[in-house]
Amino acid sequence: MDVPSETRSPQVIRWLVPLSLLLACAALAILLVHGSPSIGTIHTVALLAIALSAYAWMVAPAAGSTVLSLIAFVTLAWADAARRTPLLHGSLAAFALLIAAAGWQRRRRFIRLQRMSQRLEDLREERTVKDQAIAATNQAREALQKKLARYTQLQQIAEELGNLTDLHAIAELAVTRAFSLIGKSDVCLLFLVDPEPQELSLIASKKREAIPAIRAKHGDQFDRHVLRTHRPLLVNDVRRDFRFTVTVSLEREVNSVIACPLLLGQSPAGVLRLDSAQPGAYTQDDLRFLDILLDLVSTAVTNAKLFAETQRLAMTDGLTGLTLRRPFLEQLGRELTRASRGREPVSLILLDVDHFKTYNDTFGHTAGDLVLKAVAEVLRTVVPPGGAAGRYGGEEFVVLLPRLPRAQAAETAEKIRQLVAQQVPGRERARPQASHASAAVRSGGSPRGSRARDAGVVERQPVTVSLGVASFPDDAQADLELIRVADERLYQAKAAGRNLVVSA
Ligand code: GH3
Ligand code: MG
Ligand code: MG
Repeated sequence: MDVPSETRSPQVIRWLVPLSLLLACAALAILLVHGSPSIGTIHTVALLAIALSAYAWMVAPAAGSTVLSLIAFVTLAWADAARRTPLLHGSLAAFALLIAAAGWQRRRRFIRLQRMSQRLEDLREERTVKDQAIAATNQAREALQKKLARYTQLQQIAEELGNLTDLHAIAELAVTRAFSLIGKSDVCLLFLVDPEPQELSLIASKKREAIPAIRAKHGDQFDRHVLRTHRPLLVNDVRRDFRFTVTVSLEREVNSVIACPLLLGQSPAGVLRLDSAQPGAYTQDDLRFLDILLDLVSTAVTNAKLFAETQRLAMTDGLTGLTLRRPFLEQLGRELTRASRGREPVSLILLDVDHFKTYNDTFGHTAGDLVLKAVAEVLRTVVPPGGAAGRYGGEEFVVLLPRLPRAQAAETAEKIRQLVAQQVPGRERARPQASHASAAVRSGGSPRGSRARDAGVVERQPVTVSLGVASFPDDAQADLELIRVADERLYQAKAAGRNLVVSA
């Protein structure tokens, strides 16, 4: 690029040149006024003035150079008027030409300089615009990367949730991942709706270390709002949101809230909520991601519930609703392991409905089923917390009594025996009378109800049970051994006349 000459000239020259020119002009003027200088001297000073003036044009600003050139020109013109020589004429003409050329050159340079500064200005503006575009692109790229990272995380979460069938594990994963996925939060809470009394109940939480423990276990106005509206909620400044009354939380400061409902089908099953002390902490993007996460959690919870129900059905007897033999034995095994570690007793009652075959034969299989259901109902009322009642097979039932020694288990067995005798409704049937019975059979009538009608003599057929009791560690050390002992005692009760408890 063409660098302007004034930037190349040392400062001293910029002063020295006009000074020398002025001195030369002054010297010439003095010579012209005071004496008769030789033509050679005038020519020398004139040429020096021309040279200096030319240089001044190159190094000094236009205004200064013009003044200097005019001074030099006037002085030369004076010298020319005083001593008319061809050299002075020529010098004067050359000087005029020089000034004109220098002026023109100066003008061109000025225009070029202006263009260059304009171009520079344009380039600067262009750079600013490009810088802004780069910043915007970088921002967009960062946002995109963040989005991508979140989607990747969502994909991982979906896979992890797909492997979980336990509700608590799902809840823990949901809050942990929501906390890290959204970030910026002080706490993340997951509430589930308790069917009774239809209120929110905290099931999992995640918080920053500095935040005190969560004490509000049933949610606040934000959670209840989401539960009521079934819609996601984003609050940027709780003090400016007309939907909520400002309350200063005692537990922690809350200024921003983001929350989504956990919907199972159309019905709300819970609320996942994050909050921060920072106003405006969350964006619509955050809300969208949270909503997607809650969709995944909802699917996982539905699957977990289905799994639990399938498992329950697989473990439960369809007629009585009691535990089936295999899961009951598994529970007994676990209970014995726990009991032997804690040196605690465990008791077992095995019971069998007396003369049930006859009952079935007399009143029909459906009536027999009702008896089995009624016996199961009695067992349910006596099973203590942590215990279990199972259908061992056919009309045999089993009761597990953790932490109960044999004497107390025998009392429970006796209670069962009495309750069955009192509460399980027997049926009326015809008193067996050989002549009436054979007459009915001979006449082709039904041996059931028709007998009662024919004979007109009925009696109540009560339902009774026989029970055998065995206890760990007194009677046996292992599960199957315990059952064997209880079974032996049950058959002792049968042999002794039925409707009886045998515990030793
Ligand atoms: P005991 O007093 O010696 O126990 O006599 P019992 O007649 O009860 O003994 P048994 O083992 O001979 O009869 C059991 C009967 O239980 C036979 C079977 O028809 C009946 N039973 C088994 N399962 C069911 C069921 O699910 N429903 C009905 N109604 N009857 C059943
Ligand atoms: Mg039996
Ligand atoms: Mg029986």
